[in-house]
Amino acid sequence: SQGSEAGDNEANSAEQPDFMDSSPKTFSSLGVIPELCDACEKIGYKLATPIQAAAIPTIISGRDLIGLAETGSGKTAAYALPMLQALIEKQQGLFGLVLAPTRELAYQISQMIEALGALIHVRSAVIVGGMDMMTQAIALSKRPHIIVATPGRILDHLQNTKGFSLRSLKFLVLDEADRLLDMDFGPSIDKILKNIPNGEARRTMLFSATMTAKVNQLQRASLRNPVKISLSIDD
Ligand code: ADP
Ligand code: MG
Repeated sequence: SQGSEAGDNEANSAEQPDFMDSSPKTFSSLGVIPELCDACEKIGYKLATPIQAAAIPTIISGRDLIGLAETGSGKTAAYALPMLQALIEKQQGLFGLVLAPTRELAYQISQMIEALGALIHVRSAVIVGGMDMMTQAIALSKRPHIIVATPGRILDHLQNTKGFSLRSLKFLVLDEADRLLDMDFGPSIDKILKNIPNGEARRTMLFSATMTAKVNQLQRASLRNPVKISLSIDD
């Protein structure tokens, strides 16, 4: 089954957060700083969703994370809040790269990151196919903190845009990993992984609705001793 397959990987179920305590959590009680709690309140997030309650303290603690939860469960803020919080602490250079399977999703994610990060003045850029490379190169030269991209186009910039690199990246998010792989972005992601810091220098979060064999393989290639949080119904 998918459950035992996932048990094969490095994620250790003994390290799962305590799911027995399912009382609703405020963002503040999860360790989110006041500027970001205020932003949540402003956009109408009063209490954390279950994936947010489990993922946020884990990511803040510095661990890589696999988050399995269905669509609509609030995965974006689950990684965006701890990423923005870490950004405040080390605000130099490019900070985070979020890879998403479609242009529409990339724009949605970027909008959510900008709303959550408004009070800390986050600069984000969306880099997706079908747009002018030169315009995007200019956006990249303005040193965004967070790039939300589709894999093919950001790889194109890595290979062809002078002066652009991901060498100072601190945070990689593979959002909708199952769909990224279904759309055959695997080879592009592998090439991106070769061009970003490895080991301690980079933290990685992988989110997916389902744990498939391909997602498991990508996880092994990109995450270090991750905590696995599974709230998906079929896992
Ligand atoms: P997923 O990535 O898991 O599909 P999203 O991050 O896109 O989910 O969130 C789904 C919807 O729920 C969005 O409209 C989002 O604004 C909303 N949402 C997320 N977290 C909360 C929260 N804590 N309280 C209220 N609404 C939320
Ligand atoms: Mg999502």
